[in-house]
Amino acid sequence: MKKLFLTFDDGPSAEYTMELLNLLDEAGIKATFFVVGEFAKAHPELVEEEIKRGHEVCLHANRHISSWLMTRKTYTEDMDTALETLEGLGIRPHYYRPPWGMTRRFSRYEAGKRKMHLIKWDVMAEDWRAHTTPAEICRKILDRSFPGAVICLHDGRGRNNAPSRTIEALRTAIPTLLERGYTFETL
Ligand SMILES: [Zn+2]
Repeated sequence: MKKLFLTFDDGPSAEYTMELLNLLDEAGIKATFFVVGEFAKAHPELVEEEIKRGHEVCLHANRHISSWLMTRKTYTEDMDTALETLEGLGIRPHYYRPPWGMTRRFSRYEAGKRKMHLIKWDVMAEDWRAHTTPAEICRKILDRSFPGAVICLHDGRGRNNAPSRTIEALRTAIPTLLERGYTFETL
C-alpha cells in the first residue's frame, strides 16, 4: 500500500483552515492537524470542524515558542495548558510535534508521560517561506513523497500569507498523488 500522511502545523487560522478543510473534503481525504493551543482557544469552532470532518487533531504547542528557550517547567506548563484547551474540546492527542521539530532531552519523556508519541516528519516543502510559489511547493511535495511518508505543511502562521500558497499547491499535488496510486491517512 502506498500511504501518505498529510499533516498541518500552526493552525487553526481564521483565514485558511476552513478553505483547507473544504479542499480536503472535495478530495475525500483525511489529514492530521498539529494545532497551536492558543489558536485553538481563539477558534475552537475550527478545531471542532476538523474533528467533525474526520481529521485527527494533535498537539504542536500552546504558544509557538522553541523549546530551546524554555525551562523544563515552562515547557511542561505550556504543554499542559494546550492539553487542557484540547481536553475542553473532547480531544486527547496521540501525537506531539514540537515547533520547528526542536526537542530537548526531556521532550520525548514529557510527551510520553502525557500519552503522546513525539513525531517529526519525512517531507518538508518549505511552504512557510515568503517568496516560494504554489508551483514550487507542489513540485517539492511530488518529488519528495514516498510510500509511508509523513508530509509537513502549514495552515497557519508563515510569511506573506504562506498558507494560501500551500492550499493552492495542494489543488494540484493531491490529485497528482492520487493518480500515482497513493492513499491518504491520518497518523
Ligand atoms: Zn510550527
